[in-house]
Amino acid sequence: MSRHIDLHTHSTCSDGILTPTALVDLAARRRLLAISLTDHDTVAGVAEAVRRGREKGVEVLPGIEVSSRLENTSLHILGYGIRPEDQNFLAFVEKLQAAREQRNQGIIARFAQLGIPIAQKELTSLAGDQIGRPHFARLLVKKGICKSAADAFACYLKRGGPAFVEHERPPADEVIREIDRAGGLAMLAHPASLDSSLEKIPSLVAQLKGYGLSGIEAYYPTHSNKVCRVLLALASEQELLPCGGTDFHGDSHSGAPLGGSAKTIRVPQQVWREIMERLNAR
Ligand code: AMP
Ligand code: ZN
Ligand code: FE
Ligand code: FE
Repeated sequence: MSRHIDLHTHSTCSDGILTPTALVDLAARRRLLAISLTDHDTVAGVAEAVRRGREKGVEVLPGIEVSSRLENTSLHILGYGIRPEDQNFLAFVEKLQAAREQRNQGIIARFAQLGIPIAQKELTSLAGDQIGRPHFARLLVKKGICKSAADAFACYLKRGGPAFVEHERPPADEVIREIDRAGGLAMLAHPASLDSSLEKIPSLVAQLKGYGLSGIEAYYPTHSNKVCRVLLALASEQELLPCGGTDFHGDSHSGAPLGGSAKTIRVPQQVWREIMERLNAR
């Protein structure tokens, strides 16, 4: 049986439930060929995951998922194959962390105004390295204020919700340039989340390609087969690489198990081969 791949995963270094080691162990149990660890705005877990991958016979591609923007559109950019010890890149990531810190203080202030006091240490006790909205959601569930994390997003934390605060995000051209300088390939994550009709996607992708974008995420749990096909055609038209993964966080949010499944998505091995070929040619 051919082994599966998953190029979009999160660990406790951002908002996943599993440590990088436990994530790779799960990938090994599921007999995956390769994963990429793509934590939000950090590469803190990459070295551990790569090390564990060598021990367990799973290829681990260093990755990141950077929250970015294009004018006022919010977007996520995946970086594959970045050097995790690159000093320039680490300085860039530091800035992303500082912006998240500041935003978290804003979210705490919003909750205080809503009559829900939250102490920093309640959050840190739930988090690994980084605090994001999912940690607030998990805390609200723990406090009995919300029934589920999904509820906490729906009532408070979703974009436009009463506790939502935007963070300073670097523009897409800067993110793509930083990923490129660190030896990586920049890919647009889950394009259908930007525009479910996909009408605006071709021109947006063309603009990002002008900044050095290498590919787009076609295989993703919330993409219907049709959306996936349209995105594969777009990638081929614009000479971009397709990529894909489950956005595994270790909870039920993504709706797909690590590595995908027959009922959700499967990312063809060809995707892995093309990305590795492109990285090796650099
Ligand atoms: P942040 O990067 O801190 O803004 O948090 C975004 C993360 O929140 C996403 O990557 C998901 O892991 C999680 N998330 C977003 N929407 C929901 C939702 N409706 N229910 C549960 N988790 C969500
Ligand atoms: Zn997340
Ligand atoms: Fe994302
Ligand atoms: Fe993600």
